[in-house]
Amino acid sequence: MASLDYLGENASTTSDAQRARDEYLEIFETIAQEKLHANVSCKLTQLGLDINTDFCAGLVLSIVERAAAFDNFLRVDMEGSAHTQRTIDLVKRVRERNPAVGTVIQAYLYRSEKDIADLLTYGCRVRLCKGAYKESEDVAYPKKADVDANYVRLMQMLLSSGFYHAIATHDPRMIGATIRHAAANQISKDDFEFQMLYGVRTDLQRRLVKDGYRVRIYIPFGNDWFPYFMRRLAERPANLGFMIRNLFRS
Ligand SMILES: Cc1cc2nc3c(=O)[nH]c(=O)nc-3n(C[C@H](O)[C@H](O)[C@H](O)COP(=O)(O)OP(=O)(O)OC[C@H]3O[C@@H](n4cnc5c(N)ncnc54)[C@H](O)[C@@H]3O)c2cc1C
Repeated sequence: MASLDYLGENASTTSDAQRARDEYLEIFETIAQEKLHANVSCKLTQLGLDINTDFCAGLVLSIVERAAAFDNFLRVDMEGSAHTQRTIDLVKRVRERNPAVGTVIQAYLYRSEKDIADLLTYGCRVRLCKGAYKESEDVAYPKKADVDANYVRLMQMLLSSGFYHAIATHDPRMIGATIRHAAANQISKDDFEFQMLYGVRTDLQRRLVKDGYRVRIYIPFGNDWFPYFMRRLAERPANLGFMIRNLFRS
């Protein structure tokens, strides 16, 4: 399965945000026409969150309504911590009108356990990731070991909640902990999914599918690739070589 992300963030005009909305509406049409096993991921700053919250909520609602019309789903990605509360509030507000939307929680933030407890009270679907933005020690665990320990705690909360969630990581230790928790608690392989980025650990993606797990690949596309690429580079400098090799291969 896939989640398609039309690359873009920090729209500075309402017409840019509306253009992104139009693109998402079309993506849902195409997914249905082509009968793809795909949903969609978007970023709220691409849809005008920093311009006007009501305006952004209106655009998101129209996308979610289109998703629901096709029995599909919109995932709202999580951006830097300055946007966390506003993202959760907006998702909650849109979800009250239409439940075909979920969001993302980052294990590196201290606040995430509380956020998950809150999101679960209204059955919101969550994608759990470690977190990709540069954050200060005031809001996020500075040590990788603490982020990983929190990831495992939050994964257990999600899987045991009875709602369908996504465990997004390429880390074999996080994946192993998830598989063990599901098996020990009679949680079926169909009751959650793993998610990974397009092109990262394809060997692991294939192995999980072979073992009967649901796996969704996050596929970013479009011209506005620079901030996405810089985050991937920051978490793994070897990605520069990976990109250059693939540029010259095609
Ligand atoms: C589907 C999906 C959606 C995401 N959505 C968001 C979001 O909305 N907000 C957000 O802040 N973050 C998001 N992220 C990014 C996430 O927060 C992490 O930054 C990223 O996944 C790296 O963390 P990790 O769990 O893979 O573990 P890490 O501890 O970073 O890595 C574990 C191992 O995985 C492999 N690996 C990890 N990353 C890469 C890479 N880029 N290239 C090659 N190998 C790699 C390496 O072998 C590494 O040793 C998303 C990630 C995924 C998979």
